Amino acid sequence: MTVGITDSHCHVWWDQFDADRDLVLERAREAGVRRMVVVGTDVETSRASLDLAAREPGLHGTAGLHPHDAAKFDEGTRREIEALCQRRDCIAVGETGLDWFKEWAPRDAQLDSFRWHLELARSLDKPVIIHSRDAHEDTLALVQGCPGVRGVMHCFVMGPDELPFYLEAGMYISFSGIVTFKGSQANQEAARCCPEDRLLVETDAPFLAPTPHRGKRNEPAFCADTLRFVAELRGTTAEHLARVTTENASRLFGLPPLQAGHK
Ligand SMILES: [Zn+2]
Repeated sequence: MTVGITDSHCHVWWDQFDADRDLVLERAREAGVRRMVVVGTDVETSRASLDLAAREPGLHGTAGLHPHDAAKFDEGTRREIEALCQRRDCIAVGETGLDWFKEWAPRDAQLDSFRWHLELARSLDKPVIIHSRDAHEDTLALVQGCPGVRGVMHCFVMGPDELPFYLEAGMYISFSGIVTFKGSQANQEAARCCPEDRLLVETDAPFLAPTPHRGKRNEPAFCADTLRFVAELRGTTAEHLARVTTENASRLFGLPPLQAGHK
């Protein structure tokens, strides 16, 4: 792999990586994953994402409040998230979104928080990272209610029927290990027909390890497995898809191109 893979979404600040974080990052680079977007889920972990990214080449941090944490959405949190998102080294707003599947935070709080993040992303002219589980219609309505916002549907688990709406709304589509699972036919069909210039891949580590690592702790190195799987679905090479998805990530997140190299 000469170009380098971009893992467009991982949480390598998680305490599950505390014991071996350096090795995890080294294995990622060995596997060709030379760039990782490290995503914050509340004030503390957003700070941790940005701090980690400041220390590690190829890592870039974001700041936001996860829908699971939307109960913490108050004036103080808003102020802190906004200040973090304004930092030059913060490449995106999020993750934010709606989760009607787990519903760990009240729906009203999730809706308020998501709307606020969308407006913030638009006003800062930074991309927004969107989590959406069992909430297609509400997610789309809020995105459409914020025209001009751009961003990524992270861990896109929907199918070809929903896909066009997000493309139309200007979103990039990021596929995770879920696309490799047996039983993910609709999601695989979406990965097959997604326009090449909107496609991204991610791990969402430490969650959702792709086949053949399913059930284990996920780590950015496994992004190479998802990339290979999607390349095969689309009848192209992993090399080609790495180049394209890395270019897409550069365009979306405003990152310099990854130079070709051996690792
Ligand atoms: Zn995530």
